[in-house]
Amino acid sequence: MQKTYAYAEFPYVQSAAQRSGVVQRHPLVIIGAGPVGLSLALDCAARGLACVVLDDNNSVSIGSRAVCYAKRTLEVWDRLGVAAPLVEQGVNWQVGKVFFRDELAYQFDLLPQPAHHMPAMINLQQYYLEAALVAACQRQPLVDLRWKHKLSALTQAEVDGETEGEAEGDDSPARLTITTPDGSFQAEADWVVACDGANSDTRQMLGADFAGKFFQDRFLIADVVLAEGDAALPAAQQASTTAAGWQQLGSAPERWFWFDPPFHPGQSVLLHKQCDNVWRIDFQLGWDADPVQEKRPENVIPRIQAMLGPHTRFELEWVSVYQFACRRIKQFRHGRVLFAGDAAHQVSPFGARGANSGVQDADNLAWKLAAVLARRAPAALLDSYHAERSFAADDNLRQSTRSTDFISPKSRASLRLRNAVLELAKTEAFARPLVNSGRLSTPTPYLTSALNTPDEAGDEFAAALQPGSPCADATLLKAGQAGWLLQQLGQGFVLLSFGTLPDLADWPELSACQPLAVGRDIEDSAGLIAQRYDGRPGTVYLIRPDQYVAARWRQFDAAKITASLRRCLALETHPGGQT
Ligand SMILES: Cc1cc2nc3c(=O)[nH]c(=O)nc-3n(C[C@H](O)[C@H](O)[C@H](O)COP(=O)(O)OP(=O)(O)OC[C@H]3O[C@@H](n4cnc5c(N)ncnc54)[C@H](O)[C@@H]3O)c2cc1C
Repeated sequence: MQKTYAYAEFPYVQSAAQRSGVVQRHPLVIIGAGPVGLSLALDCAARGLACVVLDDNNSVSIGSRAVCYAKRTLEVWDRLGVAAPLVEQGVNWQVGKVFFRDELAYQFDLLPQPAHHMPAMINLQQYYLEAALVAACQRQPLVDLRWKHKLSALTQAEVDGETEGEAEGDDSPARLTITTPDGSFQAEADWVVACDGANSDTRQMLGADFAGKFFQDRFLIADVVLAEGDAALPAAQQASTTAAGWQQLGSAPERWFWFDPPFHPGQSVLLHKQCDNVWRIDFQLGWDADPVQEKRPENVIPRIQAMLGPHTRFELEWVSVYQFACRRIKQFRHGRVLFAGDAAHQVSPFGARGANSGVQDADNLAWKLAAVLARRAPAALLDSYHAERSFAADDNLRQSTRSTDFISPKSRASLRLRNAVLELAKTEAFARPLVNSGRLSTPTPYLTSALNTPDEAGDEFAAALQPGSPCADATLLKAGQAGWLLQQLGQGFVLLSFGTLPDLADWPELSACQPLAVGRDIEDSAGLIAQRYDGRPGTVYLIRPDQYVAARWRQFDAAKITASLRRCLALETHPGGQT
């Protein structure tokens, strides 16, 4: 059997500021070193922005939480230089199967399109993810990571009922009280990002609204380590259709979800393979289940044996019971304080939208903070963070609520309807899109964002990408070497052109953009860039620093591009623009 994970403890170090008693002012303080705070810190550092990260704890996430990280999130981490070892260590998969009782009802492929650098999904225990992000932060001199530093109070000045920090040009910082094993001390920050999780202290300190829905259901998590060689054996005895599948799962991992299986009747079960031969099993228990009783080994082990078969050898690595909520903060920006990750929104685990959407908050926020702190953009740019990421949160909440309603029907009538859909899906294609065992995380395009410039009338584009969409990856050649488009986009504004651009030095504002000409700087070796961007000679895309499309034209026009760039930095608005 595999040894269970040994949680590292990071050292507490008293800061010079606490020792000296001198109040220090920081450009950026991030509260919380979970996946979101750590990703944000790396993203800010990649843009030259120094930050302090405070965490009240001194270890990685304990136990079994996030498992699945989606392609877009991996692309963000790839931009930050941390994806490759995660992809290497994680279990890569793209096919999911849904069983009703003992038959396959439906299957999906998350990435039917070839030639993307990042896989559709990886499975990796959250503690491994956080350990990798911590190590990357420790290598980064611009990130000052402080363990056992708890934010215990936060204030911003109030002016006439408004938070002072909201006023443009106002210079008064947020004031933080930080508690460590050596007592409390004060600090100041131009900007604070609260990444302190679902029970966010910061949210409570600011009295921020956090509203939504709690679901009346409970799920048991059992992480089991299978004995070497047994990964290919289990469960066969219980459900004949799964026998061949289990054989295959060991070598070609997939996500498997059962509704009403013979080994756990009347409820659902989710199975994921993680690394180290650890298998994550989520058993639906129902609302009446007693969480304390259910966690007892004498109750957990029979459930697992029913699923894996009586002869499979396994050890329990982790057992817990969870229930969940779908809710979000009303405003993602409160003056000088911004909220990201679980502190801003919470979803059910089905669909893997928690950490994935939190990392995408960080992706959206880091370049905006860097631009504001460098005085290249007004603080109003940060209002677009609320507009774009609350729009994405609503999308995630909608998807997550629908999945949960399908998995936990609220009445006998909806249960019968749900089961009828599953039965039909076995043979009828029209019923399959209605099956919902958790629609897995995809990025929400910011289609209504005020930072976008809509296509010009007469500029027809066939590609699915539009202003507000995340850029699509594609293979290419650069100086004869194979590479990937997203890796060429880097961290700043890019003008991606099909054919050569004029010299941008003639337009000083455009010097902020990196030109990337297909045919000159990169070779579209497989024709996929032209296909995915509907690129024709003369086509130009303005791409944001988070690799989202801001605008596109069929021909270069410096005045139009300059106006779009200014819009992206909230320096001017589009007449028809919305938020
Ligand atoms: C059962 C389960 C399965 C899940 N599966 C998935 C999945 O497959 N994919 C996915 O994307 N997501 C999944 N999630 C969600 C995922 O775990 C969370 O969305 C993610 O951990 C949120 O990251 P975060 O950084 O926002 O917050 P957290 O991970 O909660 O980190 C917050 C940090 O802030 C620190 N902190 C708190 N208060 C203070 C304070 N006052 N001062 C300083 N520090 C503080 C905490 O110690 C902690 O380190 C799952 C969750 C659960 C429960």
